[in-house]
Amino acid sequence: MANEPMLKFVGLGQDYPAKRAPDARTDDFGEISARYADAKAEEQASRCSQCGVPYCSTHCPLHNHIPDWLKLTTEGRLREAYELSNATSTMPEICGRICPQDRLCEGNCVIEFSGHGAVTIGSVEKYITDTAWEQGWVEPVKVGPARGQSVGVIGAGPAGLTTAELMRARGYEVHIYDRHDRAGGLLTYGIPGFKLEKPVVMRRVDRLKDAGIVFHHGFEVGKDATLEQLRAKHDALLIATGVYKPRAIKAPGVGAPGVIDALVYLTASNRKGFGDAVAAFDDGSLNAEGKNVVVIGGGDTAMDCVRTAVRQGATSVKCLYRRDRANMPGSQRETKNAEEEGVEFVWLSAPEAFDGTEGVSGVRAIKMRLGQPDASGRRAPEPDPGTEFRLDADLVIKALGFDPEDLPGMFGAPELSVTRWGTLRVDHKTMQTSLDGVFAAGDIVRGASLVVWAIRDGRDVADRMYAYLKAKAKQKVAA
Ligand SMILES: Cc1cc2nc3c(=O)[nH]c(=O)nc-3n(C[C@H](O)[C@H](O)[C@H](O)COP(=O)(O)OP(=O)(O)OC[C@H]3O[C@@H](n4cnc5c(N)ncnc54)[C@H](O)[C@@H]3O)c2cc1C
Ligand code: SF4
Repeated sequence: MANEPMLKFVGLGQDYPAKRAPDARTDDFGEISARYADAKAEEQASRCSQCGVPYCSTHCPLHNHIPDWLKLTTEGRLREAYELSNATSTMPEICGRICPQDRLCEGNCVIEFSGHGAVTIGSVEKYITDTAWEQGWVEPVKVGPARGQSVGVIGAGPAGLTTAELMRARGYEVHIYDRHDRAGGLLTYGIPGFKLEKPVVMRRVDRLKDAGIVFHHGFEVGKDATLEQLRAKHDALLIATGVYKPRAIKAPGVGAPGVIDALVYLTASNRKGFGDAVAAFDDGSLNAEGKNVVVIGGGDTAMDCVRTAVRQGATSVKCLYRRDRANMPGSQRETKNAEEEGVEFVWLSAPEAFDGTEGVSGVRAIKMRLGQPDASGRRAPEPDPGTEFRLDADLVIKALGFDPEDLPGMFGAPELSVTRWGTLRVDHKTMQTSLDGVFAAGDIVRGASLVVWAIRDGRDVADRMYAYLKAKAKQKVAA
């Protein structure tokens, strides 16, 4: 149809917002992609084929109404596009920036299957809500009539913030407890600014503060209060504390100064971005400037470390990973970005020992080969004898993933049930833990996962908590 505004994918190619040139972007921690110009966003949205059963939406953990807001964007009805996008997500512009779209919405777009290249869903999503912020369309949270019940949220990451917003909107008093001095969880202190600039996170947090949500910063549950004390204070609790225990490497020399954990490194860098004084950065220990850096791991955290090291002015940055490129857990998009920025990948390699006593001076490693698939379905790497080699290193960053901390022990709550992986055990219908009125969401339930899944869990918990609190209020009236 000549006048059909959509279905333009045959004649119109896929076009992501331009990335800054590697040389220019590695001078700072700003995001690497520009934003679409209005006309470009409308044009790219018009490539959508408006499927009756949209796989993009099915494969988005939030089941965002993607084809509908793409059509509204094409028609220039941006405010409506924003409202629709906002109806299913508490942070659309954040997901648009950092979701691994190639594995979620865009990876399941039918025009990707037909070889035309997916609609650039994430970039359009980011564009819509960034525009809404600029135009003043992002309204304050509409707080419902007070209900006389209060909710405590432990953890101010995306899961906790989402539940907090949705419960506040329903009229509950909401308190958030977080051991950090700023809210946002890994959005603030894990993910670097070149993927997600911090003002984008902070304006979301400020909106929640303006809605009357009370933030208790620097408040560590287990130290500043027990779980039981918080249970006594609130009518319902959410545990959304994420996973923070770094997986260890067992190898001689791993305790040498200069062999550090990824999140310690990234947190220091993000703090410097906020202008904080960070002693261990300022004395050089956590600063990669002028150093040969080796990062161990192949996930998103490793990619964030290598790219941070480049920006800090490292002499060389190498990423050591025990599988090959096809079998790495990190996003291919981020790997490509890292390569463009000068990171060298040493595939099929694992560390065996670390040299140096005063400070690390090198990594002794061995080549690996891929054997039979293991329990995860991925081919298990095994050492290839006689292939030992050495890399110079003044800074080694361990980025092998994270496990849950011992929450029952930390919270003084031995009756809090955990799985054999240490994640919190929840009843998937009620989303409650083994303790009545104590809900859980995000990474602490799933294990290390994604921001979009944390938001989804936070949204689901809000529905279950609402039902729980209404029933509790009724019981009180009846008693
Ligand atoms: C380096 C890195 C990069 C990542 N990049 C991406 C990406 O690009 N895209 C993506 O989708 N996902 C990414 N992830 C994963 C994503 O950040 C997480 O899945 C998501 O943040 C989990 O949200 P959450 O709310 O469950 O927990 P978190 O974001 O971890 O927040 C938990 C909060 O709980 C607080 N807390 C913990 N214990 C206590 C306590 N005892 N008392 C009080 N407060 C406590 C913490 O301080 C923290 O603020 C990345 C993760 C890392 C580590
Ligand atoms: S939330 Fe993530 S998966 Fe869903 S539409 Fe947005 S970018 Fe895609």
